[in-house]
Amino acid sequence: MGALRVLVAEDDAAIRDLLVHHLQRERFDVVPASDGNAALRLARTSADAVILDIGLPAIDGFDVLRALRRERRDLPVLLLTARTDEIDRIIGFELGADDYICKPFSPREVVARLKAILRRSGQVYDEPPIILTFGRLEIDEAAREVRVDGSAIQLKPREFGLLLALARNHGVALSRQTLLEKVWGYDFDGDERTVDVHVRRVRCKIEERPGVPQMLHTVHGFGYKFAPA
Ligand code: CA
Repeated sequence: MGALRVLVAEDDAAIRDLLVHHLQRERFDVVPASDGNAALRLARTSADAVILDIGLPAIDGFDVLRALRRERRDLPVLLLTARTDEIDRIIGFELGADDYICKPFSPREVVARLKAILRRSGQVYDEPPIILTFGRLEIDEAAREVRVDGSAIQLKPREFGLLLALARNHGVALSRQTLLEKVWGYDFDGDERTVDVHVRRVRCKIEERPGVPQMLHTVHGFGYKFAPA
């Protein structure tokens, strides 16, 4: 947790692994996909940005992008193509790609372009806040510590991940499914009630009156929202 999650959709395993390696070195949380179906599924729910190959099996990159733009218009997307055709470039931009890079490329350039589009989209990638402060609550990401009124609170790793995911999106309701993916990982096949159980535990530790939460609110029929009073 803590890092931006980048989906790398590329069917060529060598290129995919190369990108994954370089992105991880830059402290991105990387999710790989090797075909268009997986790319679309993961991009819908689990990505803060997407590096998208145009020539993907099952659903090509253009169609993935087209479908994504109907749902997540502001998700940063960097297209990769083997071709240098101007036509790819034009179609890519018309479909709403944020940038475009031709193969062969240097992985460093891909990372640099990705950072540039993240900056443009307003996402912070290089200087994540060290300590998030909300009234009496402090979340120290680097130390993975939580303090209430200055006193350290013991949270288990999933509890910390859950609180951090919600706090980093404060004011935004996150569905149980989104929280499962962010905190437990997209391949976790457990129950959404797992989230409820952990929310209850976190409330008991951070809320003055856990039964009447002032920070970690239930959004009925959907999920949870961190919105300190
Ligand atoms: Ca390809």
